[in-house]
Amino acid sequence: MKSVARTPSRTWAEIDLEAVRHNVRTLKRRSRNANLMAVVKADAYGHGAVEVSRATLEAGADSLAVVTVEEGAELRHAGIDAPILVFTDLLPDRLTLAEEHRLMVTAHSIPSARLMAQHPNLQAHLKVNTGMNRWGVEPEEVGEARKVLGEQLVGVYTHFAAADDDPEATQRQISAFDRVLAAHSFGYALVHASNSAGTLWYPAARYDCVRPGIALYGLHPANGEPAQEDLRPALSLKSYVAAVRRLEPGEGVSYGLTYRAEEAMFAATVPVGYAEGYRRTLSGRAEALVGGVRRPLLGRVTMDACVFGVDSAVAMGDEVVLIGVQGDERIGAHEVGRWAGTINYEIITGINDRRVERSYENVRGT
Ligand SMILES: *Cc1c(COP(=O)(O)O)cnc(C)c1O
Repeated sequence: MKSVARTPSRTWAEIDLEAVRHNVRTLKRRSRNANLMAVVKADAYGHGAVEVSRATLEAGADSLAVVTVEEGAELRHAGIDAPILVFTDLLPDRLTLAEEHRLMVTAHSIPSARLMAQHPNLQAHLKVNTGMNRWGVEPEEVGEARKVLGEQLVGVYTHFAAADDDPEATQRQISAFDRVLAAHSFGYALVHASNSAGTLWYPAARYDCVRPGIALYGLHPANGEPAQEDLRPALSLKSYVAAVRRLEPGEGVSYGLTYRAEEAMFAATVPVGYAEGYRRTLSGRAEALVGGVRRPLLGRVTMDACVFGVDSAVAMGDEVVLIGVQGDERIGAHEVGRWAGTINYEIITGINDRRVERSYENVRGT
């Protein structure tokens, strides 16, 4: 049985950068070589923004996108020189910082465009609301926003609300965006719309550039099986068996004693809990791999540990795979998401890197 010789931390994440490069190549092929803006917001969805950004650029990504100016500044401090777009709304003091770090910003409204016009060195992308109703100027405001931004305008984009599950709504958004593009001349501005779902499933929405996030990490945008789309999951979440004990019939496990042994059995304590990002809603539902076999989570996830049902062959030090492959078995982030009542996105982004150390595999491309 695979045993863990030395654990870098109680629970750790292994990130395969060759998988990230493979996913970039898959997405490039699927988008017929449109430009690719790699979305590395939220520390690359919990995978580590600097390492993932380098891997995506090596594999052919043309630019990067983040959500805060601080996320962009981190990439600049690491020496990454590629164009970087900041998606979200920025307060005035952050615009100065964006300018210092050569980050492109997003104009979401006429007032935000006016603020940007006070920083003539800033380049801006204009975001148009075509139905998501979260960020962006309305189609009838585009003319004015363009005038305000003048030469600073280098891109125009929209964002899909339901490209993962509602073709009709997505087609309405594509048509609304096409009407905006037809009504205005954007010169050389980069036109883009597609998140991962758009990139994979809406050829009409590729425009000049696609903006995949989740698919870069090898996960399916509709919380499905990644292999269906030739995507390779990059992240594994692993831990180890810290203790094994025998339970007698009737004995309970973990807070609340919500699990009761029906017969004599073995229980393995694993040092992963909701402080690591292994969510409490997994209680009594999840499975993990030990010895290449799926093992049920017994009772509640606690802050720092949980307990899995095992057999007498399992020993202290055995490797535990919470997300990833062991032997012939695999547990996907989408499965963990389903057990937790959420989606793969929230599972990987929620891994707490103050507790969970990351290591990288295949750092250099082949
Ligand atoms: C997060 C985000 C994306 C990427 O979305 P995925 O579903 O992860 O591919 C693209 N565009 C914008 C504006 C985003 O906020």
